[in-house]
Amino acid sequence: MDCVFCKIVSGDLPKATVYEDENLLAFLDIVPVNKGHTLVIPKKHYPTILDANPEEMAGLVKVLKVVALGLKEEFGYEAFNIHQNNGSTAGQVVDHIHFHIWPRTAHDRMEIVFPNDGVSYEDGEMEHFAQKLSRAYDNLRLGLGS
Ligand code: AMP
Ligand code: ZN
Repeated sequence: MDCVFCKIVSGDLPKATVYEDENLLAFLDIVPVNKGHTLVIPKKHYPTILDANPEEMAGLVKVLKVVALGLKEEFGYEAFNIHQNNGSTAGQVVDHIHFHIWPRTAHDRMEIVFPNDGVSYEDGEMEHFAQKLSRAYDNLRLGLGS
């Protein structure tokens, strides 16, 4: 498979390893937004969160926390963004699920643009969204085992 992160996992491409176990790998991003920018991935190739194994994702969240703590303790970063893109429309470039840990400083050059006024729900539409998603959650969670 022509996947840059699979090649990093297999050792066909070089990496600066931060953490590794049987299922997970954390390594430094080659184009860091700030020094220490880390990517955390499952070793198995899952394109997006919709494909990923939930147990591996639970372990991955622990790695996110410990790496963020390491960035704080070893390099003094007090703030972070955990960022994850699913699909090219959302900005995903590498088609192997990955979580970014962006260490932040007060005067860095990063700008996360979010429209403060958002979009508006019509009357009753918010409840409709919540109810529909809640029903979907009840139906779909049964398939989360694998
Ligand atoms: P995304 O836009 O979320 O798909 O981000 C992909 C990330 O992978 C970018 O931040 C790239 O800098 C990073 N990246 C691509 N190739 C490599 C590589 N060989 N080693 C480390 N990071 C990489
Ligand atoms: Zn892959």
